[in-house]
Amino acid sequence: MNATGGGYVGRLAPSPTGALHLGNIRTFMVAWLRARSLGGRVVLRMEDLDHPRDKPGAAAAALDDLRWLGFDWDMEWTQSERKAAYREALEKLGGRVYPCICSRRDVEAAQSAPHAGEQLFYPGTCRGRFASWREAAAEIAPRTPCWRFRVEPGESRVGFRDVFAGEVSCDVAATLGDFPLARDEGGAGYTLAVVVDDAAMGVTEVVRGDDLLAATPAQILVQRALGLPEPVYCHIPLVTGQDGLRLAKRHGDTRIAAYRASGVRAERIIGMLAASCGWCEEGEEIRLAELVPRFSLSSIPAKPWKFTADFSRRLAAAG
Ligand code: GLU
Repeated sequence: MNATGGGYVGRLAPSPTGALHLGNIRTFMVAWLRARSLGGRVVLRMEDLDHPRDKPGAAAAALDDLRWLGFDWDMEWTQSERKAAYREALEKLGGRVYPCICSRRDVEAAQSAPHAGEQLFYPGTCRGRFASWREAAAEIAPRTPCWRFRVEPGESRVGFRDVFAGEVSCDVAATLGDFPLARDEGGAGYTLAVVVDDAAMGVTEVVRGDDLLAATPAQILVQRALGLPEPVYCHIPLVTGQDGLRLAKRHGDTRIAAYRASGVRAERIIGMLAASCGWCEEGEEIRLAELVPRFSLSSIPAKPWKFTADFSRRLAAAG
């Protein structure tokens, strides 16, 4: 049994840092269809802890776009309302965490070898350096420290079987070092919050973009330190531009709101994205719920799906 009554529990976890675009929706379609095709429940979790980057109105707009596209969910959570739970988890971690004042530039300068991807190796510069968060904060005011998780060599190898990506194995001490948990005195930051919430929501499987595959071993170490259950993971290749980089503004306006405003029907967007996953023919207009019996993970291409401006033209063309 879990918090939502047993069985499969999946989640959609938008961040209100901007409007939802085709890339977000394609991943959410996989997550939603996976849950519904297994008779499971879906929790919507608004990840609104990233204050400088969160945009006013973006959370409500995201929910509105999702409903318009045919998504539904059984429970709704908002991370900014769950700060007491993050503080409690931080206290539970006790000596496993320490405040760090290193800037990104400091950490980059400390790299002994180039590390692939966005994640930097942290050599533990601030381990044992400050007696408290307050002491660290005073040293770098007005900048804010971050909490780092102390990775012990004996526990640092993490292996798991990703439903889509296959076997993953990583020595966190060697690749990431002591990774950041939260840039907030109370622990309200992405890595701690995602671990605490997945457990509290009873999430049995995390379906998300594979940009987070490299962050998963760190999340598993935090679960273990807190004695929380480990969900199954399923990381889906992201949507990229022709340049192979993650879909962004420079690739064109792929916001759902923009297609809506220009009169594109929800069924057409769903159909075009479903075609990219092998669930229907391109040009077929279909409602999200109608895809439940057609859903399969194995027809999704293992390579990132590349967006082109021509896709937007075909999307806007009458059925
Ligand atoms: N909120 C994150 C995002 O929009 C997803 C985090 C997660 O799925 O763990 O990229």
